[in-house]
Amino acid sequence: MRFGLYDCFCVETDLFFLDGGAMFGVVPKNLWAKKIPADSDNRIPMQARSLILRGPDKIILVDAGVGDSLPEKFRKIYGIQASGASMAERLALRGLTVDDITDVFLTHLHFDHVGGATRRVGNRMVPAFPHAVYHVQQAQWDLARHPSVRDQSSYLPDNFMPLENHGVLHLVDGPKDDFFAGIDLIVTHGHTRGQQHLLVKGKDTALFFCADLIPTSAHLPIAWNMAYDNEPLILMAEKQNILSRAAAENWVLCFEHDPDVAAASVREKDGRIVACRRMDLG
Ligand SMILES: [Zn+2]
Repeated sequence: MRFGLYDCFCVETDLFFLDGGAMFGVVPKNLWAKKIPADSDNRIPMQARSLILRGPDKIILVDAGVGDSLPEKFRKIYGIQASGASMAERLALRGLTVDDITDVFLTHLHFDHVGGATRRVGNRMVPAFPHAVYHVQQAQWDLARHPSVRDQSSYLPDNFMPLENHGVLHLVDGPKDDFFAGIDLIVTHGHTRGQQHLLVKGKDTALFFCADLIPTSAHLPIAWNMAYDNEPLILMAEKQNILSRAAAENWVLCFEHDPDVAAASVREKDGRIVACRRMDLG
């Protein structure tokens, strides 16, 4: 699907499972389970969905999935199942290779977003996209280097330290309009400090990559948030602001973790923002 200068498509790399209660915070199970049913361990399926933007002089990857170098213990806890084709194989379906990626935007450095940014070669970790510059918010980098007790288990240094060690890391300080031609960088702090989102601007529409601000389409209601969010009140204000813009400016929202809905446009209905047209961005 085209937005402005970019052909945009999703790559689904891994399915994994998280506790449904944690994914919906204070929302009662008899409400959230109608949206995404839980398994016998109370877990719900989560997709790891990356976005690729193919522009005139750049091929941009947004987030890199879980990757294949996570410790076995992690893979078991989260029931991680590779989708059957590697990132390289999925790129090949589009006539691309990992060498073609010029830029990788990491929304934040939690393992389910950044695991595929690096890969293991022998006993070394190296960047998985060898010719790419990796863009990370400075605030998120600082947090990942010195995480709190609350979120330290989400940050695995092997996922991101090799980027600095190989000189491919570009630290960005705050939001920026037209970071690249036709792409604004929007920053939020409620889920984690320095989460960045790309807004790909088209004619009379735009594509917004929600990352963990709105991880699935079931998280569109303002109060339906994750127990993983560090600052829930800040997150709710940020979500309100983004959804108001999305409805007013006819954005398409891309949901990184929704097991079924890759993307949707939204509209206002009875004072709330709801999904109105699903898209697969395949
Ligand atoms: Zn996260």
